[in-house]
Amino acid sequence: MKINCLSCGHTIDLDETYSDYEGQVKCYTCSALLEVKLEESLVKAVKFLKLTRSADDGI
Ligand SMILES: [Zn+2]
Repeated sequence: MKINCLSCGHTIDLDETYSDYEGQVKCYTCSALLEVKLEESLVKAVKFLKLTRSADDGI
């Protein structure tokens, strides 16, 4: 499954374990933290939370 990063527009690749998932996903291109809601391999919602490029990246 693929979602588009709301910050940089890059495609984030998620494997099938994310087919039913609600939570945070990090874009490895721009370090943006996204909150996503996925149901039955469909993207229900994507929300931009913040950039985690700084040193306080605790994830
Ligand atoms: Zn990004």
